[in-house]
Parts: sequence; C-alpha cells; structure tokens
Amino acid sequence: MSLSVRNARPADLPAILTVLEAARGIMAGSGNLSQWRSGYPAESDILCDIAGEGGFVVLEGDRIAAYFAFLPSPEPTYSIIYEGRWLDDTRPYHVIHRIASVPEVHGIFRTILDWCAARDGNLRIDTHRDNRIMQHCILSYGFRYCGIIHLANGDERLAYQMPELNSHNKEEYPPMHTAEHILNATMVRLFGCPRSRNAHIERKKSKCDYLLEACPTDEQVAQIERTVNEVIGRHLDVTVEFVPRAEAAAIVDLSKLPENVSETLRIVRVGDYDACACIGAHVRNTAEIGTFRILSHDFEDGRWRVRWKVTEP
Ligand SMILES: [Zn+2]
Repeated sequence: MSLSVRNARPADLPAILTVLEAARGIMAGSGNLSQWRSGYPAESDILCDIAGEGGFVVLEGDRIAAYFAFLPSPEPTYSIIYEGRWLDDTRPYHVIHRIASVPEVHGIFRTILDWCAARDGNLRIDTHRDNRIMQHCILSYGFRYCGIIHLANGDERLAYQMPELNSHNKEEYPPMHTAEHILNATMVRLFGCPRSRNAHIERKKSKCDYLLEACPTDEQVAQIERTVNEVIGRHLDVTVEFVPRAEAAAIVDLSKLPENVSETLRIVRVGDYDACACIGAHVRNTAEIGTFRILSHDFEDGRWRVRWKVTEP
C-alpha cells in the first residue's frame, strides 16, 4: 500500500502515542534499551511539534503508520558538536526528530527522508549510539557522520548531516534555476558540449560557462534563445524523483557530482526535455518561468560565458 505524509493534527495524538509505544518496542527488541525510556517523546513534545506545524504523520491508507518532526534550524542542541564538526555551519537546515513507526510497514524511513529532502536538501539528524537500525538507515540514505551532540539533559547522541549533492546555489530563484536546466540541455543538444561547469544562478541575472571550440555566431546565439523559449512555451511539468545512484547513472551524467555524493539521487526532469541530478528548488511547470533573454556573452580559451535572465511571465 502506498505511503503518504501529511501534517499531524491534535486529533491524531492517540494514534501517534500508539506508534511511539510500538517504536519503543522495536528499540528494546533490537538491544537499544536506553533510548526513549524516560518518557520521551512526551505528549507535550508531540503537541508542541503540531502547534508549530512541525509534526507529521505517515499514512498507510487511512492508518497512521509513523510519526516524525521536521523543524527548521537552529536546533539549540546542535550549536556545539564534539569530536567532529558539521559539514558546514553557514547554511540554514532542517532537523528531523522523533522518527517512530510501527514495525510491520516497509519503506517508511525512505518515505520520510524523501519527503524531507524534497523540502530542504540540507538535513541534520541524530540518534542514540545503541540505535543500530537508525544508524544504518541514516548512513545508507547518504548522511555523513559528523560528531556527538549533547541533548538538553546531557545525554549524548550521534549526529549526521546530508552532504550537498552538487554545487547549486541554495538561494536560487526557481524560475532561473529551471531555465538553467533547459539552457544546459539546449547547449548539449545544439553543440554537443557538456552542461555548464560553472554556473552562477541569481534572481536578477545569471551566468553559465560552456566549453566550446568556437564562439557561437549571432545566429546560433539567437537560436539558443529561441530554443529555450520554445521549450518554456511547451508548459512542461517539472518533476522530482529519487533513485538509487546505480540507476541514476543510466539517466543522467554523474561525472560532475562530488565524490561523497549520497547513494540516493534526486533527479529533476523538465518534461521529456531534460533530466539532471539536482537538489535545488524548481518551478512546477515551465509556464512559471517567463521569457529567457541572453544579455551578453564572450568567448575566451574555449570557454563561452553567457549572461542571461528571465523576465516575469
Ligand atoms: Zn539544478
């Protein structure tokens, strides 16, 4: 049966408490005897999550099969990390807390993480040293172990962060970012060159570098602009799917991704025109992009730099 995620409601509380009890049973059964023993998470923790719109349930059909909290940074207990360091300490992030599920449903962790990763690529999570099951799930999803954090009561937890899947600018403006994907696909199709190796995508104006043998002629530059706008005008849906790295290799070029990339990749498709591994924010349909305009370009040593923008639809 398919799993779905929705905001938890106060009326869900009894079902959530049942899920928490089931999760305690899973922990105890796997030798994790100390986590979640002293009344944590309490009813008040769950109600606080719900009040802040940070509590979520996973439904299997109509049944609540899991609970988790998805909360924006900063997480106070993550401000100091021992015996290690976070992958970065500059970007905002989301933290996932209180993952609990009933034992008999499969794919819950993946469903929760995919849901969270689609909302923020920069995720942090922690778990108990004795919770081998969760450690395995966290690492196999692609998180990196970062160090030890202390809870408010002084207990230690192992802490993890999701590495960046690629170098996209996080402050990006979705219409510009989707336009960049279309521009990349257009350049690959028209010139047989690689996708942009060095892109700066900003709200007002962006630039991309392509490796070309010669500077495109005025007619070719006009053709690039025309083709990108023609694709935008098709009103293509932009979709996201998560696939194991091994499968992703058949769909997209992975050679540009960093070595420490996760085992699960987020593939962004622009209709059937483009597919690219990307964690960035995109429009839902190319109709939201507007009009693509090339502002200027120059060519030097096999590098063609194009500056462009999109104007509001
Ligand atoms: Zn992208």
